Amino acid sequence: MGLFKKVASFLSSTPRDLETLGIYVRCDKCGEAIGTRIHLRHDLSPIYGEGEQGAAYLVRKTLVGSKRCFQPVEVKLTFDAERRVIAREITGGQFITEEEYGAEA
Ligand SMILES: [Zn+2]
Repeated sequence: MGLFKKVASFLSSTPRDLETLGIYVRCDKCGEAIGTRIHLRHDLSPIYGEGEQGAAYLVRKTLVGSKRCFQPVEVKLTFDAERRVIAREITGGQFITEEEYGAEA
């Protein structure tokens, strides 16, 4: 799948620039804070025909904690044509802020 490799590479280096978007979640099962970054130029999949009003791109991510458990946290983000987040869904965890993530990482 390649997703696990991306998460692992995030943990070893945290590039920060305007073309990436941080995603921070808390695992429902063990409470671990997990973070990753998506690349707005490379990771977005175009939506054709379907989707809600203004939705132009979609990203799906699977985040897995590294410490206590291996429950996947599934994240789905919807973007408009300007690559701004207009909707987000999560399964297996809750969204947290970058500050909350930073306090634990
Ligand atoms: Zn967990």
